[in-house]
Amino acid sequence: MTDGRQAAERQVREWLDEYSAPTAGAAHLLCDRHDPSTVAFTLVEPDLTSTPFTHGELADESRRMATVLVANGVARGDKVPVLLGKRRELIVALVALWRIGAVHVPLFTAFATGAIVLRVEGASASVVITDASQRSKVDPIDAVTVLDVDELAAAAVDAEPFTDDAAIGGDGTLVQLYTSGTTGKPKGVPVPLRALAAFQTYQHYSLDVADDDVFWNAADPGWAYGLYYAILGPLVGGRTSLLFNAGFTPESTVAVLTAFGVTNFAGAPTMYRALRAGADTSGVALRRASSAGEPLTPDIVEFGLAHLGTEVRDQYGQTELGMVIGNHWHADVALPLRSGSMGQPMPGYAAGIVDGQIALDVENSPLLWFTGYDAAPEKTAERFTKDGAWYLTADTGKVDDDGYFSFTARDDDVILAAGYRIGPFDVESVMVKHPSIIEVAVVGRPDPEGIRGEVVEAFVVLREGFTGSDELEAELQALVRDGYSKHAYPRRVHFVESLPKTPSGKVQRFILRRGDA
Ligand code: ATP
Ligand code: MG
Repeated sequence: MTDGRQAAERQVREWLDEYSAPTAGAAHLLCDRHDPSTVAFTLVEPDLTSTPFTHGELADESRRMATVLVANGVARGDKVPVLLGKRRELIVALVALWRIGAVHVPLFTAFATGAIVLRVEGASASVVITDASQRSKVDPIDAVTVLDVDELAAAAVDAEPFTDDAAIGGDGTLVQLYTSGTTGKPKGVPVPLRALAAFQTYQHYSLDVADDDVFWNAADPGWAYGLYYAILGPLVGGRTSLLFNAGFTPESTVAVLTAFGVTNFAGAPTMYRALRAGADTSGVALRRASSAGEPLTPDIVEFGLAHLGTEVRDQYGQTELGMVIGNHWHADVALPLRSGSMGQPMPGYAAGIVDGQIALDVENSPLLWFTGYDAAPEKTAERFTKDGAWYLTADTGKVDDDGYFSFTARDDDVILAAGYRIGPFDVESVMVKHPSIIEVAVVGRPDPEGIRGEVVEAFVVLREGFTGSDELEAELQALVRDGYSKHAYPRRVHFVESLPKTPSGKVQRFILRRGDA
């Protein structure tokens, strides 16, 4: 182990010890302990006007908001769904809830009522916090009282500050978040307070957010990557972060990157793909770029180098874990990149391959905080080996002799064709090089001839100006045969308008497999 890595492991233990204390409180760790004059967030509106929002203002506004929430019946331990865009009051409401010792249940603004009901019912919530722009989605839910955040904020102006900071302790629950639903029904994940140590580790060692960086994680805080690393990570580390109050478009993303001189950017592969497909990135000059959530195809790594100022580094995690393996940027733990590898375990984790799956060594991963899904013991049991020694991710992968991990596929997505195990990602990485293709998803479907088990089929979204044809299909098949392997070429290529995705933009291959897309 290098000196840098050893120092990182010590630092991580220090954070973990502090945040695991039985008296730890979230508002103190996220806000009150920081210099009140430091900017917590640069709040950016869709028209690119911006406001600095300091830790002092956040402390004051969240104390008053907490008093108003208590007056509205919110109590310690309550699970409170919050449906708000990336606005000032979202942050104020969250810190207010944590002062009281309540649990935040994130709702994504792109959700329709069905996804909201699943989470509200799962949380047995009695109140929901939202605003006028989102309210129509929660009003139909009979069981809950809807609190309008602007009314709460107006009442808070004259309210006495709430002076307590609920000491929920390291094991106390801060958030109940749901997985993305890429493979089926989303699972509820309670996030304990001590997970803040893991989030700070990623922010510091993987993303390498430095004091003079302009940092922006464009992911939405309705999901793990956005909540953990656009809100909680920046707050616990006390470093300024951009919060852009709009959904993702390539144009607005480039506008923000350029206007604010962003130097450190994090986002999902789908964002980088959209930037590549049609944005003028000539004004973008990044020092660091990181990607998570889905496999990063090599073309995006190169696109970053050529057009964003730096390569895009692939990093890996789950809602249940936060980020755990990565091509880390911080000099203390960075190692040379290897093509196709998503890197090494973060400080605070040890990983291995168990039964083909990427797995975490429980005993040697002090930062591991997952203790089980909400009300789903049988799903929880699937996450651990029988002896409890390993956490199983349900993602298949490999590790080389030097400890570089690579992702093969989600266990469910592995294709079993004529005795071979084929990872869709490898085939997709080859196909996406073709100039006609914006996006492609590869799945296994039952062999109509009943011989090969499954056959490989590809679903392709074409760039404007291209149309699907038998010739193009043959060309794409040849590309895989020659550029990757004969056994994995797609027997059929479907040309489609779009791919089925989760609201966070992940391809749902199970829908393509089922054939009802
Ligand atoms: P669900 O569990 O509900 O099916 P999900 O697994 O997509 O949804 P998340 O927790 O948001 O929900 O995503 C974690 C998964 O995303 C990982 O298990 C892995 O399959 C994929 N993933 C995340 N980062 C990477 C990466 N860098 N490379 C490859 N896959 C990744
Ligand atoms: Mg999952």
